[in-house]
Amino acid sequence: MKILVINAGSSSIKYQLLDMADQQIMASGIIERIGEPNGSLAHKKFINGEEQKTVFERTIKDHKEGMHLLIETITSAETGVISDKNEISAIGHRVVQGGEAFRQATLIDESTKRAIEENNVLAPLHNPANLTGIRTAEELFPGTPNVAVFDTEFHQTMPPKAFMYALPYEFYTDLKIRRYGYHGTSHKYVAKRIAKAIDKRPEEANVITVHLGNGGSISAVQQGKCIDTSMGMTPLAGVMMGSRCGDIDPAISGYVADQKNLSAGEVDAILNKESGLKGICGMNDMRDIHESAAQGDERAKLAVDMFTYVVKKYIGSYFAALGTVDAIAFTAGIGENDDIVRAAVCTNMQGLGVEIDLAANEGRISSEKRISTEDSKVQVWVIPTNEELQIAKDTVAILEKQ
Ligand code: AMP
Repeated sequence: MKILVINAGSSSIKYQLLDMADQQIMASGIIERIGEPNGSLAHKKFINGEEQKTVFERTIKDHKEGMHLLIETITSAETGVISDKNEISAIGHRVVQGGEAFRQATLIDESTKRAIEENNVLAPLHNPANLTGIRTAEELFPGTPNVAVFDTEFHQTMPPKAFMYALPYEFYTDLKIRRYGYHGTSHKYVAKRIAKAIDKRPEEANVITVHLGNGGSISAVQQGKCIDTSMGMTPLAGVMMGSRCGDIDPAISGYVADQKNLSAGEVDAILNKESGLKGICGMNDMRDIHESAAQGDERAKLAVDMFTYVVKKYIGSYFAALGTVDAIAFTAGIGENDDIVRAAVCTNMQGLGVEIDLAANEGRISSEKRISTEDSKVQVWVIPTNEELQIAKDTVAILEKQ
């Protein structure tokens, strides 16, 4: 069974075609700058483990033209991996915000689209683009089932004490203000894999999943169910990120707006785009930050110290929430590649039963690997995330239920 996974943004479409017989990627790519003069498609085809890359540059008027290009690319003799688009059994769409309506992946029909649209206010940058991707796929793949897989669904098992904010209760009932959490597909995938890695069933394991990429979030997963997560109503909350501030005193927003004569929207943009690592040291890529820190840049050192400290604090608080912890799993760009960050987060945690093996931790880690010592009570692992595979698996599970 072949599943196409689509992640549609406002001016981009990321895709991956997977063969679920062996769960391998057949092709993947990204179409960017849709609607601008300098559009592009970067496509990779995988045959027997070999990767063949193609890049096209041309104007791509809209998502429909982008999706046409995608179909041509995956079916053409030169760049393709299938001969006809009808070989695709279903399309799995990443949808960012499912609100409280969606606790699991869902076959898309008119009512699903309406419910996704109702959540647009909670994810104005993402949900409308995700819907455009869905509508375009429905038009260009008539008769092929479409499934929505939500970033928020894994976190819907959080109890009210974890998802409610201490605000007037009507803010929850009228405005849907609560913690939703994001990166759910990644946390779900990694929580399952880490349970397997430590030889337990997901229902037997308590784990902390640490997703550190350009965006970052941490989840406490008790017996397979998320009980808390660091992102909030929006992806701005929680740990410090590439350019997002993470948790700050909520009074700061109003104070900055008054002092600098900025609107709420302008302050919000600063908190999302000019803060985090970038706000502290001017760079948002951890590789550049380490390089500058090694050359003595004090701000870069401070940024790394702040980042690793807040991650450590979240992990500590989830030990308290979970009671017992079997394993911690690092994932995503920084979690998988950055041994300095992993070491800084995990040192001085002997009191919690965490002992990192610095030799095992060394370097970039591209496959599942234990990085704690034999004696460490809590196992620490690097588990490379695979959100597309999780979306494809959820899509297959929905098809099988029909
Ligand atoms: P992601 O959002 O998961 O794609 O992660 C992207 C981020 O991972 C980048 O912004 C970098 O900060 C970080 N990253 C990627 N490769 C490395 C590396 N080799 N060392 C440190 N950080 C890395």
